[in-house]
Parts: sequence; structure tokens; C-alpha cells
Amino acid sequence: MSAPRPSCHEMLRSLSDYLDGELEAEICAAIESHLAECENCRIVVDTLRKTITLYHQYSEEDLELPADVRSRLFKRLHLEDFLNSPR
Ligand SMILES: [Zn+2]
Repeated sequence: MSAPRPSCHEMLRSLSDYLDGELEAEICAAIESHLAECENCRIVVDTLRKTITLYHQYSEEDLELPADVRSRLFKRLHLEDFLNSPR
């Protein structure tokens, strides 16, 4: 027998650890088999994963802000002249 499949509730409780890659392989496998059969949890995981990816992008790669965010930031800092300067 494989490990018992987690319920949605147990799933969601372990989710942040799962997304951080901090769970044991056996528990990850149980979660993945739950996700394969449970669309609701799959949507939650997808959303969280995207949010976490965005969060990492903003917190670790300050120089890689999307162009529109950067341009708003520059305007706020009155750097639009710099932003629009000819190459
Ligand atoms: Zn579920």
C-alpha cells in the first residue's frame, strides 16, 4: 500500500511546505496524486505557485522589474528624463 492520500484539508495545510520543496518525497508524491484527481486543489496550487514565483521575482531580482512597473517607479522618483534619455 502507498501512503494514504491526504484530504483537501491536509493538502492545503502542507501546501506551503510542498511549494517550498521542504516536504519528504513520500509526502510530495501523495500530494501530487491528490492533485492529479482534485481539480480544486490543482487550481489553488497553480495560483499559489504563480504568486510565489512573482514574489521571488520582485524580492530577489530588483533589476528585472517589468517595464511598466519600472517606468511608474521612475516617474515617481522624477527620473522620467533618465528613462527617456536617448541611447
Ligand atoms: Zn483536493
